[in-house]
Amino acid sequence: MENETKNVTEATENTEQTPEAAQAAPAAEGPAETAAPAEEKTTRIPIEKLSPRQLLELDACTRCGECSNWCPAYDQDQREPLNPRGRAALFKDIISRQHGVFNADSFLGKLLGKKPVTDEEMQEFAKDLYACSTCMQCHFVCPVLIDTVELWERIRECVVDAGYGPLETQKDLVLKTKNYDNPWGQPRSSRARWGKMAKKKKRIKDAPKDISKKPAEVLYFVGCTASYDNNVEEVGINSVNIFDHAGVDFGILGNKEKCCGSVLLRMGDRESFKRICTENIEQFNDLGIKTLVTSCAGCLKTIKEDYAKFGKLNFEVKHTLEYVVELIKSGRLKLTNDVNLKITYHDPCHLGRHAGVFDAPRELLSLIPGLEFVEMERNRENSRCCGAGGGLKSGYPDMQNQISQKRVAEALTTGATELVSACPFCYQGLQVGIQAMDAPINMRDITELVCMALGEGPADEAEKKE
Ligand code: SF4
Ligand code: SF4
Repeated sequence: MENETKNVTEATENTEQTPEAAQAAPAAEGPAETAAPAEEKTTRIPIEKLSPRQLLELDACTRCGECSNWCPAYDQDQREPLNPRGRAALFKDIISRQHGVFNADSFLGKLLGKKPVTDEEMQEFAKDLYACSTCMQCHFVCPVLIDTVELWERIRECVVDAGYGPLETQKDLVLKTKNYDNPWGQPRSSRARWGKMAKKKKRIKDAPKDISKKPAEVLYFVGCTASYDNNVEEVGINSVNIFDHAGVDFGILGNKEKCCGSVLLRMGDRESFKRICTENIEQFNDLGIKTLVTSCAGCLKTIKEDYAKFGKLNFEVKHTLEYVVELIKSGRLKLTNDVNLKITYHDPCHLGRHAGVFDAPRELLSLIPGLEFVEMERNRENSRCCGAGGGLKSGYPDMQNQISQKRVAEALTTGATELVSACPFCYQGLQVGIQAMDAPINMRDITELVCMALGEGPADEAEKKE
């Protein structure tokens, strides 16, 4: 969380706003909630939140241990409660002591020596439950195909309901998302500032149009991280330049854009997610767009996969890189400049394993002239997570740092000088490892390479800070 707050504070400073103003502005906007409500704890797990399939999945685990070999969190801290297998077994034990035929309150349960679930046990369980980046690797290697991440998120929901989640260090993200529509607690009124500043610095031709006033075919959904963190605002700037180059009729929601709500869902606050998701669906559907394009893997997975469970979308959802491949294939975008770099590509978990987008980034990279692309040993379905997702970075920053360093080390073995990804959150997450190792590799978003091939950039460091 410290790192996350620092990045956004820097963004605030570099967008000509004092930290004091940044703090004052949200208050002036009138937060919906000012403090976490007093917690009412109950050790009782509301198992009715789990589907019959999920209850069966807890039983289906054969304890083969395959997931243990792949889990990035367990790799850092080899305690059984962090192991996907161990987590499933622990949760099964808790609910069986509370709801089973031989539960701790029953005559037979007492006879068999079943103990009631204690407050301390619940606290420990919750602590370990949130030491997970929801990377989905365990699902991909599980021989009985347990839908693990759906299960972990639903268990988090139970734990939140019981008053044990999320962790103290993660509550801030949730509260700020609910109050300010972004996890960084930044004012809504400065959400589109990046575009205005980019125009002022002549990094883009024009600030993107407000789609709520001037309809367009494509909504570019910028997302919270690229909107507020100046370390990754390049992602928005590059996307705008690419769309302008191809003559795409697009717009943004600007200050009316809200967080996609991913952070709420991953933390187990399903009710708050439902609210933000329903409001977003209504707003998007009213725009009459054909396509929603986003450069963030987390936004893509949430809007494309999770929103569909709560409402109907009357448009298609694509990641920027998928959209760019289409622009190139239809002849609207021509990549003419050689990009003489040796790169390797990191599959964001929410784009790859979660949304199944593995081929499009590789196709795009193959269309960039001059590029030398080397795969890391672990790629596509088995890509090693950067550790930033699922609340792991805010709950366990040291663990995230270690996980990120492992990925960066893997990238270094390819001999690449550039580590490329397609998600502002991975960008931040991998930078943590690069900085910790002082690694001789540059972090880049895939849109940056496209812009280079269009002769559009990238900006040098001085230009970015101007
Ligand atoms: S989702 Fe990833 S971090 Fe979480 S338990 Fe599975 S493998 Fe481990
Ligand atoms: S891989 Fe699947 S079946 Fe095997 S221990 Fe892990 S969760 Fe259980």
